[in-house]
Amino acid sequence: MHYCDHNATAPIRPESRDAIMAALTIGGNPSSVHARGRAARAVMDGAREAVARLTNAKADNVIVTSGATESNCTALWGAVEAGGVTRLLVSAIEHPSVLKPAREIAERIPGVNLTILPVTAEGVLDLNALRDALTGEGKTLVAVMAANNETGVIQPVTEISRICRAANALLLVDAVTAAGKIALDATLCDYMTLSAHKLGGPQGAGALIVADGAPLNPLITGGGQQKGRRAGTENLSGAAGMGAAAAAVMAANADNGEEHARILGVRDDFEAALKQALPDARIMGAGAQRLCNTSCVCLPGLENIVIALDLDGVCVSSGSSCSSGKITPSHALTAMGMPAEYAAASIRVSFGWDSTAADADAVVQSLVRLHARAKSRVAA
Ligand code: PMP
Repeated sequence: MHYCDHNATAPIRPESRDAIMAALTIGGNPSSVHARGRAARAVMDGAREAVARLTNAKADNVIVTSGATESNCTALWGAVEAGGVTRLLVSAIEHPSVLKPAREIAERIPGVNLTILPVTAEGVLDLNALRDALTGEGKTLVAVMAANNETGVIQPVTEISRICRAANALLLVDAVTAAGKIALDATLCDYMTLSAHKLGGPQGAGALIVADGAPLNPLITGGGQQKGRRAGTENLSGAAGMGAAAAAVMAANADNGEEHARILGVRDDFEAALKQALPDARIMGAGAQRLCNTSCVCLPGLENIVIALDLDGVCVSSGSSCSSGKITPSHALTAMGMPAEYAAASIRVSFGWDSTAADADAVVQSLVRLHARAKSRVAA
């Protein structure tokens, strides 16, 4: 099987699996003062430190959550409730875990308005639209992802941070897809969110990094765990797995980004081979800076092929979703101006730490077969 869907979930890194097993055997609660509790607490502290190193944050500012969905919801609701935010400016290509709570906040909290910020045809945030939107009145929270999960297009976070700071606006950066693939700097924003399973860690664990002084009402209350910022007995094995994945990705790139370079080679060879075999193939966001691992390919005439690829042993994602027989194009591709029929003809191929040239080759070969079959059907 050729698994090329790392942006959906990355297979677990061996270092992460080992750390999970070790944490599971501790059998202590990080809140307990005895030896077992202290051992568990040391695991939590180590996980926070590893996440902090990956993101240039302080370990104290890292809150361990159940994943990036919780992290994004906590940042949005928490900032609005504690920070008196009345305006939400959210990029059109954000993940539903940002877009949906932002819409719900605007619907439920009187006086809070939501503005969706456009992106260019290459999928980069329109900075002029951001500047214009920031000229209005009221405390503002801006949400922009560090890189898009469908196209891999990297957003100009340093510039966005400068613009937000000049306007005294809070900034939330969803770093889920970018984490471990480009350098992250949590000091550029007020809230940064991560998900362990996109890094080669376990599903159901993530982080919210909150800058010193940034307003935050906890979403989950109860016990005083994590300094009262996220109640509930910590997911020790999840945190351990996340920390180990963060450390592993840093170690794999310590020598001048060698893992990134290898993945970039696989991705670029894939795109070159695909364009040679199927010259009609269009790579979304190719004119922008992209992550090393992601390729969003539009293949006119080849619609809804994810299942057909799966039958060939190739796992990728679709640029559209289908429910009740109705094709819904991805909102991120639509925001880039892609017509709905092209979104249905788009797939996302995302490589990662365990990807090989054989994986890339299998995707190309399968697409070539499907293309030939579709052509013969048209000719018949
Ligand atoms: N943000 C982005 C960009 C994502 O791709 C995802 C996961 N698909 C999330 C947030 C949510 O992460 P989790 O699965 O950890 O809830």
